[in-house]
Amino acid sequence: MPQEVDLFVIGAGSGGVRASRIASGYGAKVMVAEEYRYGGTCVIRGCVPKKLLVYASRFAEEFEDAAGFGWTLDKPSFDWTKLIANKDKEIDRLEKAYMSTLERAKVATVRSRAVIVDPHTVRLEATGETVKAKHILIATGGTPSLGKEIEGYEHIISSNEAFHLTELPKRILIQGGGYIAVEFAGIFNGLGSDVTLVYRGDNILRGFDEDVRSHLRGEMEKRGIKIVTKAIVEGIEKVDHGLCVMLSDHADVVVDKVMFATGRRPNVAGLGLEVAGVKLDKKGAIEVNEFSQTSVPHIYAVGDVTDRIALTPVAIREGHAFADTVFGGKPTRIDHRDVPTAVFSEPECGVIGLTEAEACERLAKVDIYKSSFRPMKATLSGRDTRTFMKLVVDGENGRVVGCHIVGPDAGEMIQLVGIAVKMKATKADFDATMAVHPTAAEELVTMREKASSHVRGAAAAAE
Ligand code: NDP
Repeated sequence: MPQEVDLFVIGAGSGGVRASRIASGYGAKVMVAEEYRYGGTCVIRGCVPKKLLVYASRFAEEFEDAAGFGWTLDKPSFDWTKLIANKDKEIDRLEKAYMSTLERAKVATVRSRAVIVDPHTVRLEATGETVKAKHILIATGGTPSLGKEIEGYEHIISSNEAFHLTELPKRILIQGGGYIAVEFAGIFNGLGSDVTLVYRGDNILRGFDEDVRSHLRGEMEKRGIKIVTKAIVEGIEKVDHGLCVMLSDHADVVVDKVMFATGRRPNVAGLGLEVAGVKLDKKGAIEVNEFSQTSVPHIYAVGDVTDRIALTPVAIREGHAFADTVFGGKPTRIDHRDVPTAVFSEPECGVIGLTEAEACERLAKVDIYKSSFRPMKATLSGRDTRTFMKLVVDGENGRVVGCHIVGPDAGEMIQLVGIAVKMKATKADFDATMAVHPTAAEELVTMREKASSHVRGAAAAAE
């Protein structure tokens, strides 16, 4: 007789783990299967190890900046192998913590690929056993998408492999202009690699505010990252001293590693979705309604596999809301508007809400406040860097509808600005808040002069 559960969760990443734990807390009998490692992309090969590498990469600037503050340091040296070993130890610890959290929550865990074999049955590939489930939750995340096969495709690595390189590449070329490309460009550059970033469009971080894009690009270039735009990698050839990368309309570049950060696709292959009748959208993501319910009423999906907003905290909220809805008797929708986000580039970006261009499209009147200033630390360090901040304000009611920051600790700042924006704070509320001095964040409550005003149908006017 197959085992029977109330909920079978496929994938123990951020969304799947949260959903399992909360559903079990409501008294459901829950089993979760994970084919790789507990914790999923965020913990095992995403946000967490990435942030550890970001910390490592930032010491280089700290060492340089220290001189202006009176410090004399011996020439610092860096050991990649030690960093990776320490990072792996921490990831192992976190994986165990995830497993014990599930065990404490009385969730049955299995390490196996799970495949849907009929709408209420899942087969565990590791043992061949089948499990009957009243509900199934698909939380299988995403996987790097490297684009079409080009010559030398076998030489391309994704972020998955970047976390496990045996040595730090002296020269690396990264293709892509999104989160992962700019974050890894900063990491490798900080650690001492010679970095070339190749992006097919006009400028990195498409979809972000134009000022953020140009400010970040300038700062990355100041730090020595070569950014080649309007180009794609056409082929890669192994040569004596490395890999020769052929670019469209540009000279070849010779490097030691080639990494593609060209987006991620939903992890749906071979899951048996067709057997169950679960519909996919045009991009191959699982189609869900506002309660994360798929086209099959007892099958749900959360996180990157649904390609709504591919961010860990969003997957966690979706997983929690699913459990509340299905097992807690509290139908819960997730508000996907005004989600704050950070790019851990060097320097960081923190953004929430509308860009200037989006606000101008949607609102009748838009006021823009911006500031670009030299961070206080740079006065003594002598570093050539500037912080950028921008508030996008609805000119009709004064509401702050967007905030965009590029500079140290932008991620920390935007988390808190996010509360104000979610609460529909106005520019007057920001102004009424006393500044914390001396900080960079105080600039957000002291921007008095409008940089520009836009009225729908009229040319932008600077005030
Ligand atoms: P993104 O979608 O952010 O960026 C993909 C980049 O690759 C874009 O610049 C895109 O160009 C380019 N691209 C796509 N296809 C091709 C192609 N065939 N040839 C050349 N270039 C191509 O994906 P990432 O892989 O960087 O990250 C995936 C997701 O993971 C992010 O969207 C984000 O949601 C999440 N993430 C979040 C992080 C955070 O919160 N800090 C960190 C890392 C990831 P174009 O712009 O022209 O489409």
